[in-house]
Amino acid sequence: MAVETRASAFQTAQRRFDAAADVIGLSDDARRGLRDVKRELTVHFPVRMDDASVRVFTGWRVQHNISRGPAKGGIRYHPNINLDLVKALAMLMTWKCAAVGLPYGGSKGAVACDPNKLSMSELEHLTRRYATEIAILIGPEKDIPAPDMGTNPQVMAWIMDTISMHSGHSVTASVTGKPVDVGGSEGRIDAPGRGATYLTLEGLKYLHVDEETPTVAVQGYGQVGRSTARLLAEAGVKVVAVSDSRGGVYNPNGLDLGALEEHRQVRGGVTGFKKADNVTNDEIIELPVTVLVPAAVQDQITGENAGRIRARLITEGANAAISPEADPILHDRNIFVVPDIIANAGGVIVSYFEWVQDLQAFFWEEEEINTKLHHVITRAFYEILHTSVNKRIDMRLAAYALAVQRVANATTVRGIYP
Ligand code: NAD
Repeated sequence: MAVETRASAFQTAQRRFDAAADVIGLSDDARRGLRDVKRELTVHFPVRMDDASVRVFTGWRVQHNISRGPAKGGIRYHPNINLDLVKALAMLMTWKCAAVGLPYGGSKGAVACDPNKLSMSELEHLTRRYATEIAILIGPEKDIPAPDMGTNPQVMAWIMDTISMHSGHSVTASVTGKPVDVGGSEGRIDAPGRGATYLTLEGLKYLHVDEETPTVAVQGYGQVGRSTARLLAEAGVKVVAVSDSRGGVYNPNGLDLGALEEHRQVRGGVTGFKKADNVTNDEIIELPVTVLVPAAVQDQITGENAGRIRARLITEGANAAISPEADPILHDRNIFVVPDIIANAGGVIVSYFEWVQDLQAFFWEEEEINTKLHHVITRAFYEILHTSVNKRIDMRLAAYALAVQRVANATTVRGIYP
């Protein structure tokens, strides 16, 4: 009897690519070139720990494609990471950048470690050595890292400083997501949530939602979830439920986000907030709301619970929050999905603005950043929507089809060297 094995992250990424390649009728030659990554670098490097012992860490930098410009992709510090997942995430970055029309290819980096168990000094030594190990690949014209899970603006500042020390001058455009003090951009912190907010509002417009005040539930009250909730509330959408890893709170009349933030600061989480009922992370997904924003972790909307979702619109703030099995169920039930590939692309769009500002050494004010973000992300949304309607495919497949076509065009017109 054949034993069915679960697809690896990279195999799943390749399947999504195959489906998009089928939609656009991509040739076998073009498929072969795009189905695999271009470069994969594995590094093993020593770090002296605070107790004077030496630990060897493993890290990676993978570039999937650079046909449309330098590679762009975050760096993840996490204990459960491997080359297969880094390759999948690098490929996703190629499609994400192409889907929103940024002149970038896709890459990703990672170090297998638990950053919560490292001191600041250990984290700095690890970061500077890892940056040195991957320095042969990264740089403003080649490959530009950014924060991802487990890394933050401070880690980016150390990487920028390390690359600058090797060069003998400041290379601010070598990473994005840096602190504003060293060439970071205004508006970068809120950017993924702001993009998700803009697209949620466009989605509501497209669906002709005629409820007086649409409601939203946000699963995952972290960086992306908090910005999205705050900005949607400012736009007149009633935030009725939010959650974090310990559970959530629900009040059908709306949550007072100011009071909730005070509670969260004191209690370290949202549960126990007095002016609301507690809900579990499973329950928040199935609440009767207009909009659902999963902004926590992957695989929250699955083949098991997709049939019970009552929202009309899902803005997929977290990467892969909707499993491949759930997509067709949501599509059949006419639940409109703004997929992760554009829903959280505000982060990489404002990273692009940061890189442009660093290169020209001329910085924009936040208002200008937000206006430009709105323009880029809304244009991408309508391009994807038109493809989805014209080809009768869901928004995710439409986004992939557009992205794969753009990368294939660049690859074809450049030709094969030599
Ligand atoms: P974060 O760590 O700031 O927040 C995550 C939140 O989810 C936290 O409140 C955490 O308590 C909660 N959470 C964790 N596990 C949960 C669970 N099982 N159920 C419910 N809540 C849970 O992370 P973030 O930066 O907001 O990222 C969230 C998602 O958005 C990730 O998928 C990330 O890859 C994606 N994303 C982030 C950015 C960015 O710039 N921050 C950009 C693009 C995509």
